[in-house]
Amino acid sequence: MTDVFTPAVANKVVLITGASSGLGEASAELLAAQGAKIVAVARRAERLQALVERIQANGGQATFALADVTDKAQVAASVAHAISHFGRLDVMVNNAGLMAIAPMSECRTDEWDRMIDINIKGVLYGIAAALPVFQAQQSGHFINVASVAGIKVFSPGGTVYSGTKFAVRAISDGLRHEVGGAIRTTTILPGAVASELKYGSGHSESAAFVQAFYQQNEIPADSVARAIAFAIAQPADVDINEIVLRPTVQEF
Ligand code: NDP
Repeated sequence: MTDVFTPAVANKVVLITGASSGLGEASAELLAAQGAKIVAVARRAERLQALVERIQANGGQATFALADVTDKAQVAASVAHAISHFGRLDVMVNNAGLMAIAPMSECRTDEWDRMIDINIKGVLYGIAAALPVFQAQQSGHFINVASVAGIKVFSPGGTVYSGTKFAVRAISDGLRHEVGGAIRTTTILPGAVASELKYGSGHSESAAFVQAFYQQNEIPADSVARAIAFAIAQPADVDINEIVLRPTVQEF
């Protein structure tokens, strides 16, 4: 692990929501290898426990906290856990997400609610939990994971998912504008990346389309982890505002 150790990342306390799989898990492993102290947050305890054990076995530092990001008290408790365990919080990665693809005409309001609660409110609760800490420290870094579906509407099927990711992008930019100075805000906008996200659709035709699309396009999750590490590694006076990354073969 010494060969990837990065002084600018080392010793930063990084909380990652949605760390039990996909981009969050890959980011936790890469940042830990670069010397960051990881607070892995999600709902599946076994996955988080295994991640923490892997990081520790490789000589890194990590702990986990169980939280459903749709519950603001649980998100606040995960930030409190970061501070009680590592003494501070330097980076809040609001990454947990759900992509339930289906035509609007299906009116799957339960799925719409879930995506709004996880993808938008989850990010807002992460901001609400970490912002007072960052303001008191006069330093901190928000990394909010949107999507290329937050640049262009992913329609038909992904309209509501896109709506949530447009919202993440808007909230991130407004946050940067309002609290910039000592606090950095980065929005990550990935294209198709290998993870469990592609299994989030309950509508069978849409699920088949999404999985075929991913099979042809997806790139490994550590591609996003490297983008996140790049943003964190910049000097404190440089705020990487947005990173858009797609598989080279992906058109959308
Ligand atoms: P995964 O499905 O692999 O990971 C999603 C993560 O979010 C899991 O760790 C899951 O953990 C967590 N999560 C889901 N719901 C909740 C909840 N209510 N509370 C807490 N954690 C929750 O997908 P990805 O890694 O791909 O997704 C990560 C982010 O990247 C998402 O915001 C997604 O929209 C975004 N993204 C992904 C792309 C891709 O192609 N993969 C492309 C563009 C953006 P658990 O179930 O244990 O709680």
